[in-house]
Amino acid sequence: MAAITLSNVSKTYPGARAPSVADIDLTIRDGEFIVLVGPSGCGKSTLLRMVAGLEEITGGEVRIANRVVNRVDPADRDIAMVFQNYALYPHMTVRENMAYGLKNRKTPAAEIEARVAEAARMLELAPYLDRKPRALSGGQRQRVAMGRAVVRKPAAFLFDEPLSNLDAKLRVSMRGEIRRLQRRLGTTSLYVTHDQLEAMTLADRLVVLNGGRIEQVGAPLEIYHRPASTFVASFIGSPAMNLLDAEIDGGRLRIGATVLDLPALPHARGSVTLGLRAEDLHPAAQGLPFRVDFIEELGAQRLIHGHVEGQPLTLTLPPQAPFADEMRLAIGRGAAHFFDTFSGRRLPTPALQDSPTVPA
Ligand code: ADP
Ligand code: MG
Repeated sequence: MAAITLSNVSKTYPGARAPSVADIDLTIRDGEFIVLVGPSGCGKSTLLRMVAGLEEITGGEVRIANRVVNRVDPADRDIAMVFQNYALYPHMTVRENMAYGLKNRKTPAAEIEARVAEAARMLELAPYLDRKPRALSGGQRQRVAMGRAVVRKPAAFLFDEPLSNLDAKLRVSMRGEIRRLQRRLGTTSLYVTHDQLEAMTLADRLVVLNGGRIEQVGAPLEIYHRPASTFVASFIGSPAMNLLDAEIDGGRLRIGATVLDLPALPHARGSVTLGLRAEDLHPAAQGLPFRVDFIEELGAQRLIHGHVEGQPLTLTLPPQAPFADEMRLAIGRGAAHFFDTFSGRRLPTPALQDSPTVPA
C-alpha cells in the first residue's frame, strides 16, 4: 500500500496549444479512495493515465510510495487499472484472465491459484471460473476485471469510468461492491467518473476538475455544502444548485424587484450570484415570489420548476406538502451561498449569530 503524490503535474499533448491538465497538486493518502470528477474532456483520463504510466508526463512529478515514477514503466509501477471496457481476453477463461498478470510476473503456480481462489470468493465469481467472458453478464465481466486487479495486490488501484457500460441498477450495486472491496483491502484508489452521484457515494475525498485544473478538493458533503465556485455548485448535486443574479445594496439583497433582508451577507457591493439548493427553499408568507412552470414527480419527492423574477428556479418538496401556482419562498437559515459574478468564486460570509430563524 502506498500514497500517491502529484506535484505540479501538467500534460500538453504534442501539437496542442494549451495543456489538457495543468498544475495538479494532490496527495492521495495511503488507503484513501479519491474520485476525480468533472465533465467530459476535463482531463480525468489524461491525469489517471499519467499516474498509470500510459501517458507521458510533460510537467511536474508523480510519486508512488515516495518513488518518482515519471520514467518508470507502467508494469513496474505496482498499480492495477480497471477500465470501462473491461479489456478481458475473450479466448481465456475467467480463471486464466485473472491469473494472466501474475503468470507474466512469474508468480509461483500455487500462489496464483490461492490468490485467484480468494479473489473469486470475494467477488462471488467461483461458479464462473471456467467460463469465457462472452458467457458472462456485463456485471460479471466487470467483477472479473476487478478480480484481475485484486489478485495483483498492487500498491494502488486506478479506475477509469469502470461502471459506464452497465445499466443503472447494476451500476448502483457494483458501486457498493467496489467500495466494500476497497475498504476491506485498504488499497489506495484513484477513481475517475463524470457521474457526480457515483463520485459522491464512493469518495473519501472528491477532486472536481474543470478544464484540466483542480476546482475543489474535499469530502463529498463538505463540497456539497460549501462549493468553492459556481462551477462546483452546478456540477455537484442533483438538481443542480439554483444560481440567481442578485445585487447587494446597502446591506440588503436585491433580486429583480424583490429586496430581502438576509443575515450574514458577504462584504461585497453590487452584483453577486446567489446560490440556493432546491431543498433549502420553503413555501412561506414572505420571501421570493415564485411562479410554478411544471412539476416532476419522483415519488419520494416532488421537483417544482418555475421562475423567480424572470430567473429559473427549482425546489424540492415532500409529495404531500401543499403548494400553489404562485407562492413565496423562504430561504433556510444559513442556506444562501454567494459567488463573485465574474470569477464565479465563493464569497466568504460572516458567521451567523445564534438567533431564531428569520424568514428571508
Ligand atoms: P476526460 O477523461 O475528462 O473526458 P481526457 O483526459 O480524455 O478527458 O481529455 C482531456 C483533453 O485532452 C481533451 O480536450 C481531449 O481532446 C484531449 N486529449 C485526450 N487525449 C488526447 C490525445 N491522445 N491527443 C491529443 N489530445 C488529447
Ligand atoms: Mg475519460
